[in-house]
Amino acid sequence: MAFLEVKKLNKYYPIGTQKKFHALKNVDLSFEKGELVSIIGESGSGKSTLMNLFGGLDSKFDGEILVDGENIGEFTEKQMVQYHKEKIGFVFQSFNLVSHLSIIDNVTLAMTLSNVDKDTRIERAKMILDQLGLKEQYEKKPEQLSGGQKQRVAIARALVNDPDIIIADEPTGALDSETSEQVLDIIQQIAEGGKLVILVTHSERVAERSSRIVTIADGEIIDDKKSGPLKAVDKTFVLRSLDEKQTNKNLSLFSAIRMALLNMKEKLGRNVLIALGGSIGIMSIVLMLSLGKGINDYLTETMNENVNPLVIEASMTEATETSEAKKEREEKEAEESKNSEVVPGIPGGNTDSNPGSEVEFTGPPGTGSKLSFKEENIKELQEIENVKNVTEGFTSFSFTKNAIEFEDESYTYMNFGTISPDITPSNIIFGVLPETNEVLITEGLATSIKDNTADMIGEEVSVKIDTGDESLEGSYKVSGIFTPGDSAGPAGIFDSVYMTMDTFKSLSEESDKDVEANVLYLTSESEEFTQEIKSQVKELGYAGSSADILTDIFSQMLDIFTYVLTGVAGISLLVSAIMILTVLYISVVERTQEIGVIKAIGGRKKDIRRIFVSESFLIGLFSGILGVGLALVLSFVGNTFIERAFDATVLHTTPAFAIAGILVSIIISVLAGLLPASKAAKLDPVEALRRG
Ligand code: ADP
Ligand code: MG
Repeated sequence: MAFLEVKKLNKYYPIGTQKKFHALKNVDLSFEKGELVSIIGESGSGKSTLMNLFGGLDSKFDGEILVDGENIGEFTEKQMVQYHKEKIGFVFQSFNLVSHLSIIDNVTLAMTLSNVDKDTRIERAKMILDQLGLKEQYEKKPEQLSGGQKQRVAIARALVNDPDIIIADEPTGALDSETSEQVLDIIQQIAEGGKLVILVTHSERVAERSSRIVTIADGEIIDDKKSGPLKAVDKTFVLRSLDEKQTNKNLSLFSAIRMALLNMKEKLGRNVLIALGGSIGIMSIVLMLSLGKGINDYLTETMNENVNPLVIEASMTEATETSEAKKEREEKEAEESKNSEVVPGIPGGNTDSNPGSEVEFTGPPGTGSKLSFKEENIKELQEIENVKNVTEGFTSFSFTKNAIEFEDESYTYMNFGTISPDITPSNIIFGVLPETNEVLITEGLATSIKDNTADMIGEEVSVKIDTGDESLEGSYKVSGIFTPGDSAGPAGIFDSVYMTMDTFKSLSEESDKDVEANVLYLTSESEEFTQEIKSQVKELGYAGSSADILTDIFSQMLDIFTYVLTGVAGISLLVSAIMILTVLYISVVERTQEIGVIKAIGGRKKDIRRIFVSESFLIGLFSGILGVGLALVLSFVGNTFIERAFDATVLHTTPAFAIAGILVSIIISVLAGLLPASKAAKLDPVEALRRG
């Protein structure tokens, strides 16, 4: 059986939906290795059609094409890829070299697609290029070569995988007669080296150089004859055949990225502009996130500025109340509401004393909780890791019921508290911290009593404290005036009175009211554990300090604000995605010929998709890096200005934002690249190469 055998081959091209064009009619042919066959015929006679079928670029035909006994019409996609890699080498009239790849890269392309190692690739390509008289041209680009040189590069590319069949469709069509002769000399030597060379031409002179001439007209073989002995040519070309064909592997990701990079370098200006466009969206997003974080950090910092970093405040919530304590409290409340019940509508009823008519504010969260700490609660909190000690305290908040009486005048204050580790002598502007039977009052309160604030020191005042259920009252000496400074705790906003827990306890005992601690101050072993203890306290269901709670609320609001702004910035990402999509579509059109070549030499759909996706990946990577870089520069500049005006920075870019920015950029870009990449992968190689 002949090496290449064609039986009853018919080819129809569909025209529109109804008609079809009969391009090849019952072709029967057989060829052996070592033959140099010329297919000759008028333009439009079906030569290229026949070559595309031999080469497996077109698999739609009737009849049989047997290569080495196998019908290529029945090949799976994988077998066809293997066929292109091992059996077939193409040489085209218009060379079809990939313009952005160097000569050596063009020749090694077929081996790159098979992931042959780099050294072997380059060694073999150089060997063939040297024999074809292209020594030292390796790094040139195709456009820097003459027509004859280009065709020799194309021949080198066809030979590099040591195929059995070389298909050359009008290889001398674009060359002058002298260069044609040189190329034909090479082609003749290839055939004499034992390969089957099928040459398409419409020139009698070219045909005369072959060992057999097949004439085709209107899709029919009208003549098939042996021609005279081949002209004697200098044996300059001796191709070493491959001992072992390394064609079972595929294009590596690394090579795909390298190819994408080479193409991007060729269109540098355009790619820089796209990256710049894409980077603006990324930059805005990173800046918005940094702004949100900056403001959040600023708030947290200010809130915690005058707070002892070792102290964690905890107060009870209904969630932490034991069922026993809850029952007890509810019974008490029920009794109270019964006692104070007023029958409505009874004339003469003293509506003024009706407690129901009075609006009671509970104050800012975390202050004056009516729930008190029980044994179990204290134990639970004490057991948190790294808690050094626990101090009991009491706070009460009321808009109307807390008051100081001095010289028959009553002055309401809102916030009562026991001395906590948060109150340090540095906050006391006059006097000292209170000891037994002494109180500390805020500056505002002192000023409203006496014009000269410091005069309050040593004065005896009567202090009324609302404990939620009842009022306690006692007489105390003012030991000091306290300035809350920038503290964001209740004392920072409201007039406050402080005394020691012991003093408060004696007061409640004297008044026969068993008032228990409603706030605990946990002291951390070291500052580094404070945050962890805070979150554990929260996890157990206790509330934090009012500053903590306010910070949380602000943070939540800020988060929403940040996300909304980031979302708005994200719209520009959509724009850049569409931009990338468009540019890659254009790139597919521009690279049609390259895609055709890659398919002809054994590139899979997957490989082509990979090259294009790599390109969109790189665009995403570059615009991501650029965007993050721009954001960093702008944050730096912005912070410098803001710091001068406000003594604070508000743009806090974290590594997480930077990484997120780059990742988002890559993801969007790759998504935008998927469509063009699959369009490229689906291109019909015959169509693609015809346009070349
Ligand atoms: P040659 O290479 O000998 O000049 P071709 O093989 O390219 O000729 O074309 C043979 C015939 O088939 C021509 O009449 C051409 O118009 C027709 N033909 C080629 N490709 C297509 C196609 N894709 N659709 C329809 N007709 C085609
Ligand atoms: Mg043709």
